[in-house]
Amino acid sequence: MLLTERFHSIQGEGKFIGLPMYFVRTNHCNLRCRWCDSTYTFSGGEEVLLETILDEIGKIPEDWICFTGGEPMLQREAIKFMKGCTESGKNVLLETGGSLDLSEVVKINGTYIDMDIKTPSSGESESLFKGNLNMLRPGDYIKFVISDVNDYTFALSYAKQWKSTSEILFQPAWGVDLKWLAEKVLEDRINVRVLPQLHKLIWGNRRGV
Ligand code: SF4
Repeated sequence: MLLTERFHSIQGEGKFIGLPMYFVRTNHCNLRCRWCDSTYTFSGGEEVLLETILDEIGKIPEDWICFTGGEPMLQREAIKFMKGCTESGKNVLLETGGSLDLSEVVKINGTYIDMDIKTPSSGESESLFKGNLNMLRPGDYIKFVISDVNDYTFALSYAKQWKSTSEILFQPAWGVDLKWLAEKVLEDRINVRVLPQLHKLIWGNRRGV
């Protein structure tokens, strides 16, 4: 697999926020979100054998692997990687932009999907592979990164129509007021979770954490 970096950290966003995880960040992305904070994944990378990473994962203390990018689903061996991790007793949190078919992922017990639905401010709001919406399992969730009122209205319309048991998370883009977002959610009385990016609160907006 083509990887950008691997590191130990605390999960900074989404439903499993706060859990220690081993992060495997892949290279390449098929999207170009305007506010992307991982543009360093767009080029370069290190080719690492699947066996090497799985061997590494067998030795780490964390129960969780965060498989992230870039877009991890672009890796040819993505499914084999997730199967290998779960077979060695780890849980895998897949962080994906949701533009690629996730039907093989939902068959793997021990995987959890964090699917970003791209909001208008990203410039990629048409990118979702809509079939994914019907596949999500109760442990999976969708996430909206919200930059402004337009993004909020877009996410609100999904939240109002959502009929699945998977949760919805609203996350302010870096620099957007968390209180503003929390108060909008209360005002509109919607059942979503509002969460900050914990790793950025702890370490600031930098890579490798
Ligand atoms: S999907 Fe993620 S990595 Fe790709 S451009 Fe968007 S924010 Fe960046």
